[in-house]
Amino acid sequence: MKRQCIKVSKKKGEAVRRMLLELEILDNSVKIGADEIFLYLPLTREPAPEELESFPENVELTKFDFKRQEKKPVPEDLLGFSPAYEVIGDIALLEDPDLDTQKALKIANAILRTQPNIKTVLKPLTPVIGEFRVREFEIVAGEPRTETIHREYGCRYKVDLARAYFTPRLSTERSRILAWIKEGDTVVDMFAGVGPYSVLIAKSKKPSKVLAIDKNPDAVRYLRENITLNSVKNIEAIEGDAREEAKKFAGTADHVIMNLPHNAFEFLDSAVLLTKPGGIIHYYGITPEDDLFESSIELIRMAAEKAGRKIKVLEKRVVRSYAPYQYNICIEARVI
Ligand code: SAM
Repeated sequence: MKRQCIKVSKKKGEAVRRMLLELEILDNSVKIGADEIFLYLPLTREPAPEELESFPENVELTKFDFKRQEKKPVPEDLLGFSPAYEVIGDIALLEDPDLDTQKALKIANAILRTQPNIKTVLKPLTPVIGEFRVREFEIVAGEPRTETIHREYGCRYKVDLARAYFTPRLSTERSRILAWIKEGDTVVDMFAGVGPYSVLIAKSKKPSKVLAIDKNPDAVRYLRENITLNSVKNIEAIEGDAREEAKKFAGTADHVIMNLPHNAFEFLDSAVLLTKPGGIIHYYGITPEDDLFESSIELIRMAAEKAGRKIKVLEKRVVRSYAPYQYNICIEARVI
């Protein structure tokens, strides 16, 4: 069955597949096509020109003869509705915070019966909270644990979701950051968690060094395990406060990653201190719809000026919507 599709090199295929999923235009009714070099990703509609612009270079709109997808069972087949859940490794997290115990159990059993890769179903009892950005969970069904190994872009991340932060929702963002890093760069990941930015960068690029800092001892314990699990050597895992650690590594960073969106602004002095002349700060924030970037840029500028330096904004973007009228944003600023 010939259908319109995106032709992309196998290397970039996973990133483009995720972009199509986010745009909700990947056609799941047929199997993804492949030859020696390329993947062929089937589309439910032609991407708009501005959507195409966000794809990597060298993707091509073409046609391909796809095979029909045999339909795998889904929880909806048993429940009559499609439950919202997120998958991290072999754990499913139910997304509706208002589910009562009985309904949660019914959904969990449908997930376990239809999704052989899922071994445990959890229901978050709190939002992501506190300095260490963790949640409490109830184990609804399956194996009684909150630890899992999640695979992303050829890397593996072991994490206990009740002890350290991790979300697959930032996977596209992580692959985007990669494009900024050049061979030989020094990268400081100020809020590294279990290492999804640091490990990916160390594995995919040839940075001279990645300093991965986190204050949560459990996160750093998993970060160290993940360094071993992914056989990466050029990362130094540091358990400590990013503000204190910044003083020891002043002026060393080509890139400073600030993935602590609610509080990153409090650490801007330290991020500026870390950057080499010409180094880049990757700043994350949670901002309101009517002031997506300007106040944050002003804060970065003020921190730089306090240190007698200037900034040049290289890019600003919405990463994802966070809550009604609130967005998770990223600003890339060069510190001169
Ligand atoms: N970058 C990781 C990721 O994408 O999974 C983790 C991001 S999580 C939003 C922020 C992390 O910052 C948490 O792991 C938390 O423990 C850590 N953190 C909070 N305050 C810190 C501080 N003062 N110094 C170092 N790490 C801190």
